[in-house]
Amino acid sequence: MFKVPPVSAERLPGLLRAMPKAELHIHIEGTLEPEMIFALAQRNGLRLPYASVQELRSAYAFSNLQSFLDVYYAGASVLLHEQDFYDLARAYLARAARDKVLHAEIFFDPQTHTARGVAMETVVNGLHRACADARTESGISAALILCFLRHLSEASAFETLEQAGPLRDRIVGVGLDSSEQGHPPEKFARVFARCRELGLRLVAHAGEEGPPAYIWGALDALKVERIDHGVQAVHDAALMRRLAQERIALTVCPLSNHRLRVFPELAQHNLRQLLDAGLAATVNSDDPAYFGGYVNENFTQVFAATGLTVRHAYQLAFNSFEASFAGTAEKRAWEHQLKESFERFVEHD
Ligand SMILES: [Zn+2]
Repeated sequence: MFKVPPVSAERLPGLLRAMPKAELHIHIEGTLEPEMIFALAQRNGLRLPYASVQELRSAYAFSNLQSFLDVYYAGASVLLHEQDFYDLARAYLARAARDKVLHAEIFFDPQTHTARGVAMETVVNGLHRACADARTESGISAALILCFLRHLSEASAFETLEQAGPLRDRIVGVGLDSSEQGHPPEKFARVFARCRELGLRLVAHAGEEGPPAYIWGALDALKVERIDHGVQAVHDAALMRRLAQERIALTVCPLSNHRLRVFPELAQHNLRQLLDAGLAATVNSDDPAYFGGYVNENFTQVFAATGLTVRHAYQLAFNSFEASFAGTAEKRAWEHQLKESFERFVEHD
């Protein structure tokens, strides 16, 4: 194991920004900035229920997950053509590359678009082309994860999977997102079993607002490989032991948790508790256009608020590569780059 060198508290934010990392919990629709919502509305000849960028931004004062989702679905309505999805993903990937993200696993919600008459292939092809072009241009690696909306039915999820069939080679895995409470993972056990047969990698949101039982459900009924959020696991000691023993990664999103009042104060965030219990936690931005920051902002703010250390920084970045769905050779190369970035940073002290 790499012996993490000491870094002063003043220099820690600089290290957090400079260290290579993977982002594993990012909803592409959640990277839609108000400026782009207005630009796309104009390009597509749509009228928005907001008079200005400022008015739209001021609607971003959320009280819980549902109040956010209402604004989020309204924003996504400007996405109509393949080029819109392309532009959205290119903007995110350029932003992520500046944050030293070497690899991103990007969630998309096809049902949000197919329900409005946008074809599955319009969505997937636009996103896929953006990932390919970004890789050529900046070297960033990216993969797509199709998410089912859990407030919709099992039948709708199956229909979505069917529509994605011809695009199977452009999708690395599937996830489960949207309103958690009242929609336990078990509702989608048969859909996930089918996805597993198709060789898709499996993740699910669980234990964001919902109880630890939803995390157990995601592991046992859906057989997921990672848990998105998972911060409620701390209320169940047996679950904590299992997550640590099986090295099930948690894709934690500090600023999202703060904005949606999972933790009313960022200083109350339990990321340190998760890491110190041996869990493979990672830091991610979730819906950065709505929650006040991309991945580096999540790192610097949660470190400042909770007193995490340089050792945690290395562990979080290491976990992000290790928990990704990339191949072993790529993971080892990224982990080597991570080690080098720490050594280089210390040399310049
Ligand atoms: Zn999420």
